[in-house]
Amino acid sequence: MTGERNLVISVRTMVEFSIFGPDIVPSSRVDMDAGSRAHRARQRESQMRGEVSVAWQGERQGVSVKVTGRIDLLDETIQPPRIEEIKLLRSGVLVEPYVAHRAQAMCYAYMLGVRDGYTDLIASVVYVDELGRERCAFPEPHDMAALEARFFDLLDAYVSWQMLIMDSKAMRDQSLQSLPFPYAEYRPGQRELAMQVYTAIQRGKRLYVSVPTGAGKSAAVLYPSLKALGAGINRQVFYLTARTTARRAALSELERMRAQGLCLHALTINARDKVCPQDQVRCDPAYCPRAKGHYDRQGAALREALTWPSWDTEDVLALSDRHMLCPFEFSLALCEIADVVICDYNYAFDPMVFLRRVFQSPGRVTLLMDEAHNLPHRVRDMLSGSLDSAAVTAFRREDGKRHGRKTQVYRAATQLIKTLRAMDPDALELPDALLAAANDLVDALTEPGTPFREGTLFSDLLGFLMAARRVQEAPEDYRILTSQSAKDRVVRLFCLNVTRHLQESTRRMQGSVFFSATLSPLTSMRDLLGGQEDDACFDLPSPFPPEHLLVLGLPVNTRYVARDDTAQQVAEAIRALFLAHPGKYIVYFPSYAYLQLVLALLSEQWPELQLLPQTGGMGDTQREAYLAHFTRDDAPLLGLCVLGGVFSEGIDLPGHALIGVCVVGVGLPQVNREQEALAEHFDAMFADGFGYAYRYPGMHKVLQAAGRVIRSETDRGVVLLLDDRYFQGAYARLLPPHYQMKMLNHPAMVGEEVRAFWA
Ligand code: SF4
Repeated sequence: MTGERNLVISVRTMVEFSIFGPDIVPSSRVDMDAGSRAHRARQRESQMRGEVSVAWQGERQGVSVKVTGRIDLLDETIQPPRIEEIKLLRSGVLVEPYVAHRAQAMCYAYMLGVRDGYTDLIASVVYVDELGRERCAFPEPHDMAALEARFFDLLDAYVSWQMLIMDSKAMRDQSLQSLPFPYAEYRPGQRELAMQVYTAIQRGKRLYVSVPTGAGKSAAVLYPSLKALGAGINRQVFYLTARTTARRAALSELERMRAQGLCLHALTINARDKVCPQDQVRCDPAYCPRAKGHYDRQGAALREALTWPSWDTEDVLALSDRHMLCPFEFSLALCEIADVVICDYNYAFDPMVFLRRVFQSPGRVTLLMDEAHNLPHRVRDMLSGSLDSAAVTAFRREDGKRHGRKTQVYRAATQLIKTLRAMDPDALELPDALLAAANDLVDALTEPGTPFREGTLFSDLLGFLMAARRVQEAPEDYRILTSQSAKDRVVRLFCLNVTRHLQESTRRMQGSVFFSATLSPLTSMRDLLGGQEDDACFDLPSPFPPEHLLVLGLPVNTRYVARDDTAQQVAEAIRALFLAHPGKYIVYFPSYAYLQLVLALLSEQWPELQLLPQTGGMGDTQREAYLAHFTRDDAPLLGLCVLGGVFSEGIDLPGHALIGVCVVGVGLPQVNREQEALAEHFDAMFADGFGYAYRYPGMHKVLQAAGRVIRSETDRGVVLLLDDRYFQGAYARLLPPHYQMKMLNHPAMVGEEVRAFWA
């Protein structure tokens, strides 16, 4: 849709709106390009003209409409002319074409007939195998009257639906015209940030923003994005986060704007397993009654949704219940027409789950990426894939017990195990046999009639095959890492280069804003996150008085080999910090082992300290209970947590709930084959392997943890950094300007400084 009463649509979209399968079916194999390859193969072999563009333009129901499409093959040398619509059919033959394919062919034929003045045409659907060889063909002669009737049948249904959406958008735009900034005053830097965001959207550029805690980032990025919606510059805004807790800020700003008259549909996409009402997530019409006939019922639910003022998670669940829909699948359908979508990064960047219908041809979509320092490692995970022969063996064992050993699945799993175990640990290339074996197992698992299998093996296989395809396309972006234990092998396709993917994914957006409190060094992060020279960087100063924060540095050797020797020094510094002004503190350690080492000293030597260590694998309830110790009273407490863990980012403990943080070490990732491969890659790419692979991600973790202290204008607190590397320029330069670090040289000095600060 390009304007208020204009529509530009593809034939495919128009057809798929009216003709669809009724059920949600289990995912099929990953090789989505197989169809295009088969197309190309058929076109290469044919004497007919390939890829002929056609368009129809006119007015329907008061709306100016343009329908576009491409004819796969056209032969105008015969009478009547013949158009061919090529479709991939993996096996067998059909007795008649699928309704949607036939309709597509007829629409192309009609558009060609109008353009070139034909009275009769042959519309043929040809099914081919993966090599483009014909399996079966359905040539059908049509006169223009029949073609016209089919075309407008489909078009009018689509236009009627779009008119409802346009009415809803018109109301939205009206409410946006007079929408004020959601606060009486801008905080320092907020107005400039809002202007930068608006400019980036207007120009369709990327923007990289380092925005300290408390600067009001969510309002400052959302408000201009919505204003751009009202001005027709963009069509949708996606607010992407790394964690579900980070969504709260965006939702509460939207709520505030709603209270001031904003009228729009904001949707949160929750993970499938979080919203599935079934006992078990088995998206198969044979098992799930909501999957059966879902698409037949969805149209009515979408129409009803347009009349609801909000699409909060509860609303989506209520609508799903009323119409017996799968809530997850329904939210994906809603996200195509929502004004604002709040969701995880993976819906925009993960090739396995990204919202194809939105991002395949992103017409004027704006991306706002919160906590963008998390993007490189998150995207790296999305683009990497692993297969473990031990996991396939465990799957086969269970599968054999349930379904017997004579199944195709059992045989394919056996072949995959053999191939994995035979993998050369030093292989630099992926053997074809491994890909074939993985593909065969996927085929066996998705063969119609094959019973549903639980577990993660299927998604591991799809992830592996997706990564394998990328390895073939750009081997320089990957490292094949094989590890072995006894006879088992793990083959990991480790993605080194996420920059290319981020650049490509944001290239056609109507503005992409990457923002975080820890995006330093800003230009280096821009380069890593797919930015180019003409993409702006913006560094916002802290809105809080620098004197509210005391930053102390104490040179302690916290490197792995020195930890036993310096643990006493660390314990003394922590005790000095705590006793100088008892209150709520958190100390962050590089690992659980280090945490335990210092915990033992603290509890043995100073049993009066109130210690609260984090433990591994805490669930949501335990996490809430842990944080409640900080908020329920003012009793002094010393939390001991792991840097980079669940309590070092995204938690909000304002005022007395947290008055100080101590970070032990500089947060460097563990040295291993993956990190070393990354360092090598970044050396070649940016001539700074250690910085990009170790120092920057380490310091992002440090600064996130330290950022827990000052959460509002009235907060005061202390950050104690324990490591001699904070005294080196390469690390000190990564501290934000409002960190006026005092360098100490003995733990005893910590107490003096802290007492003076609080006095
Ligand atoms: S309701 Fe649950 S099991 Fe059914 S299709 Fe949706 S996610 Fe799958």
